[in-house]
Amino acid sequence: MSTVLVTGGAGFIGSHTCVELLASGHVVVVVDNLVNSSARAIAAVEAVSGRGVTFVHGDVADRSTLDGLFARHGFGAVIHFAALKAIGESVAEPLRYYGNNLGSVVTLLEAMQDAGCRNLVFSSSATVYGNPTNAPIDETVRLEAVNPYGRTKLMGEEIMRDLCAADQRWKIVLLRYFNPVGAHPSGELGEDPRGIPNNLMPYLMQVAVGRREKLPVFGGDYPTRDGTAIRDYIHVVDLAQGHVAALGVLDELASGCHAFNLGTGTGSTVLELVRAAEEVIGRPVPFEIVERRAGDAVAVWADPTRANTALRWRATRDLRDMCRDHWAWQSTHPYGFGDAPEGS
Ligand code: NAD
Ligand code: UDP
Repeated sequence: MSTVLVTGGAGFIGSHTCVELLASGHVVVVVDNLVNSSARAIAAVEAVSGRGVTFVHGDVADRSTLDGLFARHGFGAVIHFAALKAIGESVAEPLRYYGNNLGSVVTLLEAMQDAGCRNLVFSSSATVYGNPTNAPIDETVRLEAVNPYGRTKLMGEEIMRDLCAADQRWKIVLLRYFNPVGAHPSGELGEDPRGIPNNLMPYLMQVAVGRREKLPVFGGDYPTRDGTAIRDYIHVVDLAQGHVAALGVLDELASGCHAFNLGTGTGSTVLELVRAAEEVIGRPVPFEIVERRAGDAVAVWADPTRANTALRWRATRDLRDMCRDHWAWQSTHPYGFGDAPEGS
């Protein structure tokens, strides 16, 4: 058990990972600039865990913030979640994405190097497989990025591979997430997207609480069992536990970069997810099949065998668990960590 620096720890996946780190006895220090999150998430982590977190409101691309942290704490490892993640926004504002996501990677690696901490877990994504055509996807599939956000993840990985090649003392775990959904089962912690949600589950849940009229289902004519696209949805608590598992095996891993898929290994269609949500909510969720979304892959799910074996980790929660826990959060916090807008 060690002290872990969690960048982006106020965000969706970071906050759930803090809960699991605390539960497994780690000391947690979070740095987050709250560009896409709320300090209320940190309070919720503490309430759910019954343990304290040291929170620093700061930017990971700011070297002096990091140096201050490394001077005050002896970190055993860093988990780097902090990034901007909206694909459409990354196409419109590529410099902001490269500056933030890669600026923070380089600054963090420099600060770690100078502080002598060379253990890192990096939030990568299945987006580094581009639009793959042959599911299940294992880690040997050719890497390719198809938008600026994806390129920041792929380039982040490449920077880390170069660093590991240059200096054998680094141990870096690249965790490639498939589709994280769900929430903490307490209902006190969950995803809180700003503006119109880009992702399926938060959009669906906002329809279910009446914030939006109906869910657009992008494409009903794909060559799948019901015509809608297939993804590998993974419960955020399973994902969070994957990070704790990665820290747990760091000592056993050879030095260098190691990539692992974090997924369930099972694909679900959009309509299967809608049906599972309707079952736990207890009523229909209005939806309409509309045009395909440009750039969407037909069917993507993980082969998580490598993580199952090397990390001794496995996702255990199913689609129903994901919908039930997401609903527990959304139905009790229709506006996430924010307040309802006036007049609503
Ligand atoms: P999120 O936006 O909820 O969390 C990211 C956090 O990082 C936010 O709290 C934000 O305020 C913070 N942040 C961003 N830039 C920062 C900076 N320069 N300095 C300090 N803090 C900064 O997103 P999430 O869904 O929790 O994603 C976490 C990580 O996982 C990201 O790196 C994301 O790219 C990656 N990822 C997410 C998904 C997904 O579908 N949610 C899938 C694959 C990979
Ligand atoms: N999707 C949808 N309606 C939405 C958002 C997403 O039908 O409002 C579909 C999307 O086309 C994809 C699946 O849901 O097939 C998952 O989309 P998401 O954006 O959550 O993840 P990604 O496509 O990045 O894997």
